[in-house]
Amino acid sequence: MRGRFAPSPTGDLHPGNARTALLAWLQVRAAGGTFVMRVEDLDRGRVRPGLMEAQLLDLRWLGLDWDEGPDVGGPHAPYLQSQRQDRYEDALGRLGEKGHLFACGCSRKDIAAASSAPHAGDDEGPRYPGSCRDLSAGELRGRQHALRFRAPAKPVAFTDLVHGPVVYKPADETGDFVVRRKDGVASYQLAVVVDDSAMEITHVLRGADLLPSTARQILLYRALGLAEPAWLHVPLLLGPDGERLSKRHGSVALREIREAGAEPEALVGWLAATCGLAEPGEACTPHELIGRFSAGDLSRESTLLSAPGESSTGGNAPQEAFGTLPREGQSDE
Ligand code: GLU
Repeated sequence: MRGRFAPSPTGDLHPGNARTALLAWLQVRAAGGTFVMRVEDLDRGRVRPGLMEAQLLDLRWLGLDWDEGPDVGGPHAPYLQSQRQDRYEDALGRLGEKGHLFACGCSRKDIAAASSAPHAGDDEGPRYPGSCRDLSAGELRGRQHALRFRAPAKPVAFTDLVHGPVVYKPADETGDFVVRRKDGVASYQLAVVVDDSAMEITHVLRGADLLPSTARQILLYRALGLAEPAWLHVPLLLGPDGERLSKRHGSVALREIREAGAEPEALVGWLAATCGLAEPGEACTPHELIGRFSAGDLSRESTLLSAPGESSTGGNAPQEAFGTLPREGQSDE
């Protein structure tokens, strides 16, 4: 088994990221496999200097380790996506030769204006209405363009090891999706497929918010003739209102928790308790959890954190688990 964690150094890691990293690590360690750390730093406009180092430090502080990665090397180096553009270009060339791609000069604004479809609910924005699908190369001459993958009309069915059989319709949800951005940089969808395949990842464990992305990635695996990994989409950690965890919920960055002098075992125990791997209030190391992990027992439901003050009734509010956090860490954004 080969698994990975693939953080983007565009912001601090939060407890939700830490829980996904812990689960990915546990799955690999429980099977005696190889754990890979890959840094997804393609979005140059959002990558901030020093964040990769801080994220890796956070993960090591938690007690996680990796067998291959940017700081330890390995047979599939480089482990920074910004250094792998030639691999993405090669894959784009192969997709282009097979007729899967077309050039698109639309801006986000054009697409929003032309599209009456609702937001697809993930990173891709509104459904692409196909404006440039049938343009000849000449019609785009001189205009900066992205490359899009022609999404076939047929639904994509696959089995997720947590969610069971699922079906998505990329053609209806996002439409033809970007594989190379206007600035020439490979998109997440393309880079993740090229890298997971090149790094021989057998099990992709990540947050359930990426399930619809997986359908698009499967289209790329098929078009490139690559073998698909097994998929495990684990539940997200959400605030009491069902929204993504943020400072509003008393959730702070891992870096702040670490710098405030919290014990990593307290955080690991708390994270493990939120997915049933530890008792509430138990402190433990990732290693101590290896024997308790079973992919088949992972819940499909998002974990809702309780509001502060509900701990006496079995709640799991982070405020109570980390009484040592600085006050400003618990204020509104
Ligand atoms: N860099 C992506 C993220 O941080 C990784 C997604 C994935 O695991 O494929 O969301």
